[in-house]
Amino acid sequence: MNKLHYTLHIEGLVQGVGFRPFVYRLAKEMDLCGNVSNRTDGVYIDLNASSEELDHFMHRLAVEKPEVAFIYKMNVSKPEEQVHYDSFEIMHSLDATSHITQVSPDIAVCEDCLRDIQTQQHRRRYPFVNCTNCGPRFSIVKALPYDRKNTTMQSFAMCNRCDHEYHNVSDRRFHAQPTACNSCGPTYYINSPGDFSYTEILDRFSAEINAGNLVAVRGVGGYHLVCDATNSKAVAKLRALKQRDSKPFAVLFSSIEAAKAYTYIDKEEEALLSSWRRPIVLLKQKRVLAKGVNDGLATLGCMLPSQPIHFHWFDQLNTKVLVMTSGNCHSEPIYIAPHTAEENLASHVSLFIHHNRDIQNRVDDSVVAFAAKKPVVYRRSRGYVPEPLFTPKSMDGIVAFGAELCNTFAVGKANQLIVSQHIGDLKNWDTFAFYQESLSRFTELFHITPRVLACDMHPEYLSSKFALEYALAKDLPLIHVQHHHAHAAACMLEHKLDEEVLAIILDGVGYGTDDTSWGGEILRCDYSKFTRLAHLTPISLPGGDVASHEPWRMAVAYMHELLPQAQLPESFVTRVGEKRIGMLRKMIDQRINSPRSSGAGRLFDAVSSLISLCDINTYQAEAAIKLEHIADKSVQDLYEIDTEHPLDATLLLQGVLTDIEEGVSPSVIAMKFHNTLAEMIFQMTCFQLEKEQLHKVVLSGGCFQNKLLLELLVNKYDNAQILSYFPEQYPCNDGAISIGQAAIVASLYQH
Ligand code: ZN
Ligand code: ZN
Ligand code: FE
Repeated sequence: MNKLHYTLHIEGLVQGVGFRPFVYRLAKEMDLCGNVSNRTDGVYIDLNASSEELDHFMHRLAVEKPEVAFIYKMNVSKPEEQVHYDSFEIMHSLDATSHITQVSPDIAVCEDCLRDIQTQQHRRRYPFVNCTNCGPRFSIVKALPYDRKNTTMQSFAMCNRCDHEYHNVSDRRFHAQPTACNSCGPTYYINSPGDFSYTEILDRFSAEINAGNLVAVRGVGGYHLVCDATNSKAVAKLRALKQRDSKPFAVLFSSIEAAKAYTYIDKEEEALLSSWRRPIVLLKQKRVLAKGVNDGLATLGCMLPSQPIHFHWFDQLNTKVLVMTSGNCHSEPIYIAPHTAEENLASHVSLFIHHNRDIQNRVDDSVVAFAAKKPVVYRRSRGYVPEPLFTPKSMDGIVAFGAELCNTFAVGKANQLIVSQHIGDLKNWDTFAFYQESLSRFTELFHITPRVLACDMHPEYLSSKFALEYALAKDLPLIHVQHHHAHAAACMLEHKLDEEVLAIILDGVGYGTDDTSWGGEILRCDYSKFTRLAHLTPISLPGGDVASHEPWRMAVAYMHELLPQAQLPESFVTRVGEKRIGMLRKMIDQRINSPRSSGAGRLFDAVSSLISLCDINTYQAEAAIKLEHIADKSVQDLYEIDTEHPLDATLLLQGVLTDIEEGVSPSVIAMKFHNTLAEMIFQMTCFQLEKEQLHKVVLSGGCFQNKLLLELLVNKYDNAQILSYFPEQYPCNDGAISIGQAAIVASLYQH
């Protein structure tokens, strides 16, 4: 057989995920000689093989690769200098001058490790077990390359046994950086003096949970607050701790079977729930849990155990479902340090379970749902970050500062964009500090040399102000990117669209190029430019920012501006009071603190309040979420649409009012509202596609977190054979603004 020397260059997530040992074992199994090495731009494999062997090897590489590994590109070349190898080897890092910049996201404990803690003597019930296929990654990394000495595992010296496994190429823990066992690794401890064994800690946990108390537990990326999800008194305590807001809590089920007792789960959802990323998956609820868990909603955020301790909890609990929510208050970032957790939570929490492995990078739970048959990420953090977005064009040296709410930032390295974990609301002081710290950590960790910066056009966004300071300090160019253009560009980059598209952005508010507030926008755009073709009717926001927290204000504003002669519904007037309504009308007329906005989110607010569903938002988009959740999906009727001006909501509002007067149920009105809005946008889309001679539609903006609206619209496009794209891997909300900013700046700098 004629063997040649081939070089395979593999790009993707192939470092720190057990890829090299896998290649080694595969080559050995196939009797092939050569070597495998890690370099800055991926993994290289040198191989002596016949062409059939090469094909077979590549096929098996793609099919049998470790679950977490992701191959973006595989190139084969024949080096001019043909080398003959006698064995197969794993090479030490070849070029010591440059750095390997890939880090895997954190990985849920694998099946093999769960077995090991039952069978291996030195790991019996060891709660921090891990191997090359699983365990903490991003959350413990302090520097690169990803070696134990550069992680928070550095303070734990490996015992002889672990060390032996670590150096044995045929062991699953070969080069598993955080590997540990009962005699050498991290341990749990609690907030009581004295030494408690792991078993005793688990007993204390069960006792507190069974008694309806709250427990705070240090996890992979931060603290969680935990209580029995079937005990309403326990949930009430948690609400008291979290203060007022009625934001739904996510829950942890003991198993998929337990989850199926409470929710409807199809095959794809089951696969995602139990995937190595182990995110919170929003599922349709079948049976209610304790009051206070997710009142008024039709979906439940669900998780399955991802850490050994989760499995051990359920071994001895009465309940099969626990509330598992971020350990924080208000919009603070989740606590990562034992003292911060105790300082802030001690008043309500009966037991703290800490561990002694530091959390370097804070990561919250990620949130995903299936919408229009695709897994759609709403909050991207644990299990996803820092997986890069591979881009066709260079992103090198770009730093994008993101928006202000649901903030993420992004940094560019060669043809990769690395988006930060979910940071949150920058107006919170601690979150802003977390933002600044993470940004400098990312540039350091990934060896980014900033060359060009991007931020939102909004001069008051803290991210924009910070970007400006940063630009001045480092003497770098800063590009201000329009918010909704960024929404569109983020979706385009994810789907690798590089042409002019019609973008439908349904969003809260964002700063427009005319210094007014935009939000419901139809744009014609590519990366480098956009035209505002149409938008929703601008409506006053009486009270400015307050209006976005108080949907009743939007109900008054919409009525006052679109239907000034019409009567507000009786129940609304009773609830809100004539006086307040009168005052608001005056504010609008006299233009006192009532900026106009074409934002789409506020229309949902207005209708939600008019039908008595939600007058005040206790969390972001509550009114809109409730409107979606009560909608009776069997209803197909819609309100009248002005075909000349499809985006004019006057007839829609008139229809809602008439229905309220006639006593039509809120769930029917809610569905008719969604049907109508989808049809309004669809008609506008068709008109614009024709007029502008465009063929592709991009959907984004926070309102598309509304799965009902997204699916209604995508269905219409599918039926009309219109190609539509929506964000999947990255959020449609402001969590993707940094991506759009980076995409736009990359394009500008290429021209
Ligand atoms: Zn494992
Ligand atoms: Zn050990
Ligand atoms: Fe936005």
